[in-house]
Amino acid sequence: MQKEHYLINPWQIIEEGFNPKNQEASESIFSLGNGKMGQRANFEEYYSGKTLQGNYVAGVYYPDKTRVGWWKNGYPEYFAKVLNAPNWMYLDINVNGSRLDLAKAEIGNFRRTLHMKHSLLQRNCSLSIGGVELEIESERFLSIVKDEIAAIKYSIKAVSADVDLILESAIDLDVHNKDSNYDEYFWNIMSQSAANEFSTAQTQTKKSLFEVAYAIKHAFKLGDNDVTLHAEPMSIEHKRTGYRFTHKLKKGETLILYKYAGICSSLNYASGLLKNAAISVCESAFTLGYENLKKEHCSAWENIWHHADIQIEGDEAAQQGIRFNIFQLYQTYTGTDHRLNIGPKGFTGEKYGGSTYWDTEAYCIPFYLHTAPQNVARQLLSYRYKQLDKAIENAAKLGFKNGAALYPMVTMNGEECHNEWEITFEEIHRNGAIAYAIYYYLKYTKDYSYLFEGGLEVLVAIARFWAQRFNWSEAKQQYVMLGVTGPNEYENNVNNNWYTNYIARWCIQYAGEALAHCQALNSKDSELIQAKVGLHAEELNHWKSISENIHFPYDEKLDVFLQQEGYLDKEQRFADDLNPNERPINQHWSWDRILRSCFIKQADVLQGIFFFEDDFSVDQIKRNFDFYEPRTVHESSLSPCVHAILAAKLGYEEKAYEMYLRTSRLDLDDYNKEVHEGLHITSMAGTWMSVVLGFGGLRMRDGVLHFNPVLPKQWKAFKFTIRHRDCLIEVNANNNEVKVSLLEGELLGVAVHGIEKTLRPNTPEAWSAKI
Ligand code: BGC
Repeated sequence: MQKEHYLINPWQIIEEGFNPKNQEASESIFSLGNGKMGQRANFEEYYSGKTLQGNYVAGVYYPDKTRVGWWKNGYPEYFAKVLNAPNWMYLDINVNGSRLDLAKAEIGNFRRTLHMKHSLLQRNCSLSIGGVELEIESERFLSIVKDEIAAIKYSIKAVSADVDLILESAIDLDVHNKDSNYDEYFWNIMSQSAANEFSTAQTQTKKSLFEVAYAIKHAFKLGDNDVTLHAEPMSIEHKRTGYRFTHKLKKGETLILYKYAGICSSLNYASGLLKNAAISVCESAFTLGYENLKKEHCSAWENIWHHADIQIEGDEAAQQGIRFNIFQLYQTYTGTDHRLNIGPKGFTGEKYGGSTYWDTEAYCIPFYLHTAPQNVARQLLSYRYKQLDKAIENAAKLGFKNGAALYPMVTMNGEECHNEWEITFEEIHRNGAIAYAIYYYLKYTKDYSYLFEGGLEVLVAIARFWAQRFNWSEAKQQYVMLGVTGPNEYENNVNNNWYTNYIARWCIQYAGEALAHCQALNSKDSELIQAKVGLHAEELNHWKSISENIHFPYDEKLDVFLQQEGYLDKEQRFADDLNPNERPINQHWSWDRILRSCFIKQADVLQGIFFFEDDFSVDQIKRNFDFYEPRTVHESSLSPCVHAILAAKLGYEEKAYEMYLRTSRLDLDDYNKEVHEGLHITSMAGTWMSVVLGFGGLRMRDGVLHFNPVLPKQWKAFKFTIRHRDCLIEVNANNNEVKVSLLEGELLGVAVHGIEKTLRPNTPEAWSAKI
């Protein structure tokens, strides 16, 4: 896909002209979601061209057998697949006896628009089939207010002649995953019917036995008038359930089809009630009508933007980029269901499987904490608390004892469901991010009740894991950690990954501090928790002795932390010296060559410096940044944002801006040449961080919110809002001043460039932009 394929616009993503080569990429980019379900922007109509069909229902997955040649003890039982679910949009159109196939029809004007302000997908196109010209307009949305409802308004105009139309509108049950091993079908059809204007289907996933029921109903208009079309149930032979509508459309007339869908899953209803639930959801949508549903949906989206928008003046590409990221995050996770989480691809593709990675804690928690009500971030933390038993079981399988927990790298329900040993067994740094998220949440909210309601137990179990995972090296007379994979997945089985050792030590220390804090706040409850987890002074002393003597690889000459032992033995090259035709290297080089190279997939040492920046001097940060940035190929979407934030801190404005564009337009400009597989949802939270923590300089220091805005020279001004406890704060920075307003809440002290002032409602305070 060529760069800037989509038109630059502050609130819309627009594609002008139809190019089948971009279809799969556009299906990802124009995806819709409402937290409960989502879909790629597949055409409603038949399309025989290359497409990745994708409809997804949150929390519904298939535990596919892990297929590996040489099974090793400890491997997860299954790989959780995000399931391509039945397609409620299915619409087959027949014009004067010919089936409309958008891959074969002559397409004239074509415009696809994603309205980010309101989460609406529109498409207008003119086409000719069998010598007849038609104009088609479609608009659809997944209601964010009533999140089991989806609706389409689809209109066809006969431009050049009268046409005999047959519309088959159905639920298509003939769906399968592209990533199925042997073209397997993952769904059983339990029932399907078309009667009394409703078409319904109830389906069940094989093995995991989730059930999803669908109901659809239609209404028609001819111009402005309601009409009833001749309708008969479709044959169910083709695993479709729906109606066949026939109509003779006169030249110049426009037929509008409204299709309403109710989609309910067994996460929320008992099996026996499911079908009726879907029917009644669908009926309520039908009764309310398209325009009313759309109105409430749009106004709910406006409310999201009120709390989460970022405005960038003077740079529309950057503006569009950041909104696209915020928009896709809220399409993926709305915080209304404690069982759900934020999958790296959200509802936009099958890749990755599972829904919960360390991405949630390391990247997404700050975004939701600062833009959504506080309970949303807390809910994401307690999601992990609820899975603590499984994390303890997972660690026990690997030989750890005494309540040590190893959280999975990838999970749907607390069980590990990723099947590569170097990730499952070795990429254990994920445990650290889970503890770090608790720390981050408490730092901003002071909601210490969370420590008593799960947080402390999680911290202790994680600390126990690390204390057992280090081993004493006689040779070094220090504790070491062997055989790990750091965040940089272009290295496996390394010894003493600096990041992992650093975060592990921090976890051990922080668990001790959190315990002391709990004792000070409420010694009785704290002792109860200690008794529950069996934590004694002896163990705490052991933790202390480990944490005081851990080995950290370091090079004296360069004065940088070494990513791992032996990193400097590698041939040292810079990413800029790579042949551009060989990038991304993961699509051109053998895996072996990648592993032997010095190239870094994503922030690793720098990820640690980002998390613990107060532990390091600016000079140290600079030296490490200068060393690692040129060696980093940023082939994980999670990488550029960390570099953007550090670059902004170091005053490397050009680099910060370059990294910002790369993270915010990663998918829109397809930097990693993989957008056709889906979007990089979790890294979008990193994009948000790169503006608010990077250019905005948001930090919490000694209980006070600090901002340190730096304005990229490409921008005239930027403005963002953040929620902080009961307050909503707006920060507006331009070249001359930084203005901070309290939009909601009472008094609040904030500091800009280190100068503290008290904010009062409706009384913005201004600081000079110059430090
Ligand atoms: C990254 C991981 C990340 C995963 C899911 C991988 O490419 O290396 O850090 O957790 O993608 O986003």
